[in-house]
Amino acid sequence: MNPQSPIRLSKSKFLSGLQCLKRLYLEIHTPELASKVDPVRKAIMEMGTEVGVMARKRFPQGVLVQETYRQTSAALRRTSELVQDPSIHAIFEGAFEWQGTLVRVDVLERVDALSWKLIEVKSTAKVKAIHIHDLAVQAQVLLGAGIQLAGMSLMHLNTRYLYEGGPLDLEALFVVADVTESVQERAPQVAVQLIEMRRILSEPVPPTIAPDSHCHSPYECQFWENCTKEKPPRWVYVLPGKRQTFYDLQDKGIETIDEIPEDFHLTILQQRMKDNVEWMSDEFSTILRTVEYPIHHLDFEMFMPAIPPYPGTRPYRPIPIQWSNHIEYEDGTIQHESYLCTDPKDPREEIAHSVLATVRQSGTICVYSENERHILLSLGDSVPSLKSSLVAVVERLWDLFWVLQNHYYHPGFAGSFSIKTVLPALVPSLSYDNLDVQNGAMASVIYRKMVFEEPDLIERSRMATAMLEYCARDTQGMLKLRHVLLEKSKQAATNTN
Ligand code: SF4
Repeated sequence: MNPQSPIRLSKSKFLSGLQCLKRLYLEIHTPELASKVDPVRKAIMEMGTEVGVMARKRFPQGVLVQETYRQTSAALRRTSELVQDPSIHAIFEGAFEWQGTLVRVDVLERVDALSWKLIEVKSTAKVKAIHIHDLAVQAQVLLGAGIQLAGMSLMHLNTRYLYEGGPLDLEALFVVADVTESVQERAPQVAVQLIEMRRILSEPVPPTIAPDSHCHSPYECQFWENCTKEKPPRWVYVLPGKRQTFYDLQDKGIETIDEIPEDFHLTILQQRMKDNVEWMSDEFSTILRTVEYPIHHLDFEMFMPAIPPYPGTRPYRPIPIQWSNHIEYEDGTIQHESYLCTDPKDPREEIAHSVLATVRQSGTICVYSENERHILLSLGDSVPSLKSSLVAVVERLWDLFWVLQNHYYHPGFAGSFSIKTVLPALVPSLSYDNLDVQNGAMASVIYRKMVFEEPDLIERSRMATAMLEYCARDTQGMLKLRHVLLEKSKQAATNTN
């Protein structure tokens, strides 16, 4: 970047600066230090764009400023023409600049000949504090650019909206919350903050700001890896539980878990992490043996679209799309069954029927988390004719996650009981590293692409295979985990005797 050229700030840079001045500095001066945007984050951003496009339909006479973010001068000119044209009722993506700060406005709705309403569209379910900051900087720039504002609103999704089929009811799908008062209270600070941000940006080095929980809220900072690369592996920040523990330890100058003094109060899990040794409860062995054959190992995957795609669904309501079941019989035989919906259709009824078939009439159903219970119950609500059968399946669930949380700890868990941590620690041959899909969020992203966007049949088939492999890894992992834990409990009993 040319040090002589004035730095133009955008709305997103302003919000980065509010979260952390170092983040803003790095984004402007050394963006190459940022981690790559992962596919899940990218998909969330795409979903936000989709919601933004849908929101525009509530303003049928609105005009879009087509010029891209790289065509700033043309966008500013086009916006100015539209503002001056009294026949224009609403402008989408209008560009405005004031004192070197540029904003693009989601919706600017004409109220009368002189004034406008500023509307920010978010794909969230409610108004958040960061949205007020977002609107405040836009309002400041618009006012500076000579736009008279009659009000400010945040347009977000109404998660209670039930799609009943046919065209979406946009009045019901979106909530338009008037936040004029909050934005007006916030607006005077914007000019001062912009001055401070420019001062920091003109310094030869970034400000010294220590990484901590501010790096994850309101947004995940892309410089986390860079800012923490010199931290020790057992840095106190990785302790599970309340962040206050980290701050208390930091105040005492304690950097690693191993330096924590014996008299410092820790929760049970934090203490296990500090002890860093394997632990099992007295009841562990008995609990592992409460399962009954055939033992099913069941896992669902879901996707949570912002815009409800099927009748009877709501924004962000999880829709199950696949399951995997590894069945272990008493004679040691293992059988694998799975289901994946690969068409753009409502999969719930088919999933409900197929899952009832795979879990048969008997046997324990081993799961990992409460998730499967919630999915089975919600499937019962979606397919009332199968409700009682699905509730009966819920009665047979046996949660391995709960068993581990309460009865076992291994140093490899590093304070986490996520199967993504537990499995590599106890069954290293079954990690997720060699899979194309490595977590549930990625599965949801791939599913959406496969079913709604990807036209190429070979690519769709590759995606389906990746999803099936991922879900199967979860259930095979549960089965192997149970075996490893049983073996460990037997060894512990042998050592005791
Ligand atoms: S990781 Fe944290 S400290 Fe580093 S730039 Fe980001 S927000 Fe600031």
